[in-house]
Amino acid sequence: MAALKVPTLGVTGGIGSGKSTVCRLFEALGARVFYADHEAKRLMTEDPALRQAILDAFGPESYQPNGQLNRAYLAERVFDDPNALRRLNALVHPHVLHAFQEARKQATRAQVPLLILEAALLFESGADRLVDHVLVVDAPEAERIRRVVARDGIPPEKVRARMQHQLPPEILRARADFVLENTGSLEQLRQQVEALYRHLTMT
Ligand code: ADP
Repeated sequence: MAALKVPTLGVTGGIGSGKSTVCRLFEALGARVFYADHEAKRLMTEDPALRQAILDAFGPESYQPNGQLNRAYLAERVFDDPNALRRLNALVHPHVLHAFQEARKQATRAQVPLLILEAALLFESGADRLVDHVLVVDAPEAERIRRVVARDGIPPEKVRARMQHQLPPEILRARADFVLENTGSLEQLRQQVEALYRHLTMT
């Protein structure tokens, strides 16, 4: 008998919206989460074809002598250069999407109740087309800035600068199947996540 299809949910939102927190709450309920940004970093170091493509495009300084990714160098190359950032993303994203397809096969074999794809650039990478539904986590900008300042210990201007690189919340919300308003307590967030988990895993 063929294994039942595992439902998939893409989770995104601006910096500080609470998407990582939401994903941890889903994990606690039994979902499996594929963290796209984490996977991208891993593949940039470990995937030989991707390493070569990055070396060809950005030069030998892209990797340190010990083989680790030279994050500072690459960050500087793409900072304030949208074309370079686009080129880097165009190299990395297909590898991440492929890895997600593999994760989906594994999740099907393991019959996990829900597979989540967490990605800051869910729409920009085309990953939204690989999932059944998209959840956007959102909160007012001032609250998001407060949360990131507290989390990362960086000044508000730096948080605002990072927000400039992301799609505005109105666009995210318009493309979402579900919007989670993360404006209350963590306990309220947990309850909202639980309700959505039940809805998505109902058989
Ligand atoms: P993102 O992954 O979207 O950048 P996080 O999930 O890391 O956001 O949340 C940002 C910070 O705000 C974290 O330190 C998190 O613990 C905190 N946080 C998220 N939601 C709430 C909430 N409802 N109440 C209080 N703190 C929250």
